[in-house]
Amino acid sequence: MPRPPLDDVALEALAQRFPTPFYLYDAAGMVRAARRLIDAFAWAPGFREYFAVKATPTPAILALLAAAGCGMDCSSAAELELVRRLAITGESVMFSSNMTPVAEFQAAAALGAIINLDHPDLLAGLVAACGVPTTLCLRYNPGAERQGNRIIGDPAESKFGATRDQLLQGYRHAAALGVRRFGLHAMLASNERDPAYFVATARMLFALAHEIRRACGVTLSFINLGGGIGIPYRPDEAPVDLAALGAAIRDAWEQQIAGTDLAGLTLALECGRVITGPHGWLVTRVRHVKHTYRHYAGVDATMADLMRPGMYAAYHHITLVNPGERGAPRPVDVVGSLCENNDKFAIQRPLPPLQPGDLLLIHDAGAHGRAMGFNYNGKLRAAEYLLAADGAVHCIRRAETLDDLFATVCWPAAAPG
Ligand SMILES: *Cc1c(COP(=O)(O)O)cnc(C)c1O
Repeated sequence: MPRPPLDDVALEALAQRFPTPFYLYDAAGMVRAARRLIDAFAWAPGFREYFAVKATPTPAILALLAAAGCGMDCSSAAELELVRRLAITGESVMFSSNMTPVAEFQAAAALGAIINLDHPDLLAGLVAACGVPTTLCLRYNPGAERQGNRIIGDPAESKFGATRDQLLQGYRHAAALGVRRFGLHAMLASNERDPAYFVATARMLFALAHEIRRACGVTLSFINLGGGIGIPYRPDEAPVDLAALGAAIRDAWEQQIAGTDLAGLTLALECGRVITGPHGWLVTRVRHVKHTYRHYAGVDATMADLMRPGMYAAYHHITLVNPGERGAPRPVDVVGSLCENNDKFAIQRPLPPLQPGDLLLIHDAGAHGRAMGFNYNGKLRAAEYLLAADGAVHCIRRAETLDDLFATVCWPAAAPG
């Protein structure tokens, strides 16, 4: 897991300048990760990575990734509006939603985004509201044919996508309505570090593309292999070798697609985590230490800033900035101040004995970190800072204030204010 490209003295100076907790992102690291992914598919003409906006929905970061060559994958009205305000439009935007309100289809259509339908049943509502789209993508759920993983669950238990028969029916129906270009999408695993999983998905979708052509007379224009490429959250885990992953998918392509009627199709991915995850840190300070039946270090961030540990028991590495001379590491629970006992960033984690004022880095928080934040217990969501390639640190989102928190309240008339 990367460290910020700053030494401990510079980190402490930063935390003196900006109140903790805050998120810090490394622009150069994110751009390098995006380029590595895009380069791994340089063999595939027209390849596109649509960055999953939900992972890190911060405009400065989206703009950086767009400049590095990424399209954007949106899943809600807010995410569509974000990319619209960044002037990212047309087929640089993919809209992959589920249980979609018609108004969001209208927003996506207004942008000219590629609409990825979670299920063909949504087609009638889409057509009624927006007319027949020129391009349409459908999302496949293979059910018992594939296993998923811990975060996303097995496909057969997943709410996403359509069955094979529904999918084939959907392509026939859409073709009859006048849709001209078609895509196929599946997203079956999350935070998966086994390249073989993605190769198996690619092989399954390549075979399905031929079946769609045979059964429906529809020749796909693109296949979106989804996101979900994992990152090493634990120090003993290895990153996915993206170049090797790209090469293995190329082998499948050579065997199943090259030289066939489908040779014109293009590939896409919609990864979030592998691009921004390792290049963001939640920077937090120890407020109190407590020794009861265990050692506790209470920090100024909470699960409302980073809910992955509390929600999925996810591991996030934690390091102490400026450790100096300390005793031997001993197990400690690193906890926030929510009135919930799952507000723990680490449980029985061996760390050097901590004391109030210590500065901690919670690693690999760049994706699905602040984005999943919430306001329970009236916790105010943290600021975000971007370390630019030239070493300057820019505020890219200020911290919330109590006025922000209360902005939506309708106070009783008698409230003294
Ligand atoms: C969340 C999500 C992604 C991104 O997942 P990562 O694990 O961040 O790569 C991509 N596509 C869909 C449909 C998603 O729901």
